[in-house]
Amino acid sequence: MAQIIDGRALAAKFRGEIAAKVQSFTRRAGFPPGLAVVLVGEDPASQIYVRSKEKACREVGFYSKVHCLPQETTQSELLELVESLNTDPRIHGILVQLPVPDQIDSKAVINSIDPAKDVDGFHPVNMGRLVTGQPGLVPCTPRGIMELLKSTGIEIAGKNALVIGRSNIVGKPVAALLLAANATVTVAHSKTVGLPALARSADILVVAVGRKELVKGDWIKPGAVVIDVGMNRVEGKLYGDVAFQEAAQKAAFITPVPGGVGPMTIAMLLANTLDAAEAIIRG
Ligand code: NAP
Repeated sequence: MAQIIDGRALAAKFRGEIAAKVQSFTRRAGFPPGLAVVLVGEDPASQIYVRSKEKACREVGFYSKVHCLPQETTQSELLELVESLNTDPRIHGILVQLPVPDQIDSKAVINSIDPAKDVDGFHPVNMGRLVTGQPGLVPCTPRGIMELLKSTGIEIAGKNALVIGRSNIVGKPVAALLLAANATVTVAHSKTVGLPALARSADILVVAVGRKELVKGDWIKPGAVVIDVGMNRVEGKLYGDVAFQEAAQKAAFITPVPGGVGPMTIAMLLANTLDAAEAIIRG
């Protein structure tokens, strides 16, 4: 039976460490790190995410400001707000909650954020730094996944890693991080042929698809580490992309849903905001 990787406990440890660093930052700088979160429209899931991000910010001692804009906000109105946040000295991190309504081009919004304040790590400058091995802001969920892997104590170098999903938010950046950690990385997607066989050769399996229990127990290589990013709400209950009970029979380590990747994503948002604030005051 697999050992469960407790994302809640690991995230709590990170939040405690960040809170202590925030105190020292605030003493040195004379002001706390500041995060601005922008929410456009009334998507209920986004509202929940934004509320939990705001709560986490308050708990570690950040200055945090949530901007709730109406559903009919135009792209230029949103870009104007981002521009004002780019130059606001109280703000070191800017996060525009995705998805944005259809009249707004999310790429244009991401590109408008100052890369130094891009705590989601989605700006092409930060993505480029990630792929080319330069220091920059790393997307929160992939950064959290690497910490979850690290917490197991397994050696990543030389392992076969399969990432299922190639989104800019999770799949591509986590593949880049695994490659940087010297894993042999395969990235699968909806057009991949023979996915179960690929999965069976993976020592590290990261699944970020958004399909309830797509990955079955007999896809898991005995002794593998399984990171389930999926969040699929079905009739009020949350499911991962991995059939947890079956997979836990084969894996050495596995993340649960909920309580695995999710809490680490928020902890890494705090870490990114603190890193951004430190870099900005260093100049
Ligand atoms: P996304 O942008 O929708 O990307 C999904 C990826 O899965 C795409 O690359 C798609 O392939 C691939 N895919 C779809 N069906 C597939 C199949 N049958 N076999 C193999 N690959 C398939 O999703 P995302 O934003 O990366 O999110 C993925 C999941 O993670 C969602 O459930 C989301 O809610 C969750 N998530 C959780 C957190 C967290 O903090 N816990 C954070 C972010 C996301 P194509 O590229 O070919 O379309």
